[in-house]
Amino acid sequence: MKMKAAVVTQDSNGNVDLVERDIRPLENGEALVEVEYCGVCHTDLHVAAGDFGQKPGRVLGHEGIGIVKEVFPGVTSLKPGDRVSIAWLYKSCGGCEYCVTGRETLCRRVVNSGYTADGAMATHCIVYADYAVKVPEGLDPAQASSITCAGVTCYKAIKVSGVQPGQWIAIYGAGGLGNLAVQYAKKVFGAHVVAVDINDDKLALAQEVGADLVVNPSKEDAARFIQEKTGGAHAAVVTAVSRAAFNSSVDCVRAGGRVVAVGLPSEKMDLSIPRLVLDGIEVIGSLVGTRKDLEEAFQFGAEGLVVPVVQTRSLDETNAIFQEMRDGKIQGRMVIDMKKGCCCSHS
Ligand SMILES: [Zn+2]
Ligand SMILES: [Zn+2]
Repeated sequence: MKMKAAVVTQDSNGNVDLVERDIRPLENGEALVEVEYCGVCHTDLHVAAGDFGQKPGRVLGHEGIGIVKEVFPGVTSLKPGDRVSIAWLYKSCGGCEYCVTGRETLCRRVVNSGYTADGAMATHCIVYADYAVKVPEGLDPAQASSITCAGVTCYKAIKVSGVQPGQWIAIYGAGGLGNLAVQYAKKVFGAHVVAVDINDDKLALAQEVGADLVVNPSKEDAARFIQEKTGGAHAAVVTAVSRAAFNSSVDCVRAGGRVVAVGLPSEKMDLSIPRLVLDGIEVIGSLVGTRKDLEEAFQFGAEGLVVPVVQTRSLDETNAIFQEMRDGKIQGRMVIDMKKGCCCSHS
């Protein structure tokens, strides 16, 4: 059996080649998934460009949703017909100190979809059955794809922030990730939300989905605004890929506040040691989420509390989508619909 896939070019030039490949036989613990949708994430751009090491020929994609077609004998966690996710956490070792203490994303022997294992930007994908989280009834599969990476990343970061109902949280960056962060913070955690972005359109969208306050740091000092309006946020989540946002976030929280880092600018941030010590500020990183986090993040989507903004495209358009992302032209999330514009026999 053959599949069509978007793979990293031989010279890792930031684009993909569309290729047809044989689907290899399943091995112990694995399942074959027919992919329905796969979201496009900035991480895919980094892998395609060789920023995390050269990966020529690797099938990209870690926001996959699809239907199980076949399982290897002995697999009990999935059965044909189940709708499942293909997330960044393809597999972890299961036995190390991180894996056994609920921190499997930090496993030192982790395997990641679309990076160290072939991912979901293809008509088919082989998964490790125990790591493919089931998508609940009632959740639109295109929207689910967006929760598989962006959604769970935000949900987990807000969990890590420790924000309590009625408290203030600042969300830095109101793009694809930040918009979901606003929704989870407001609708799931019951927090008051202030959204921070240099783009007024994104702030308007943040307000539409529940932000109580918005501030544009290109027009005024965001940290001062937040201190004045809220007395200082109890927590901040930084999804913006910007050093300025990280620096501002430390200044926007009240004493005892916690800053959660999610965005990945390749720079250093300023941290005033007196500010950390005298005001008891905490700064902590958060990386995607565990299988349990994803199950929870999906469920809130299925209940309609969180609605990802998605737009569907075809697999053939992958390089065009990459360029639009580099140009910063995208609102919400681009999701590849494997059935769209496809003429092969599998559909
Ligand atoms: Zn991602
Ligand atoms: Zn481990």
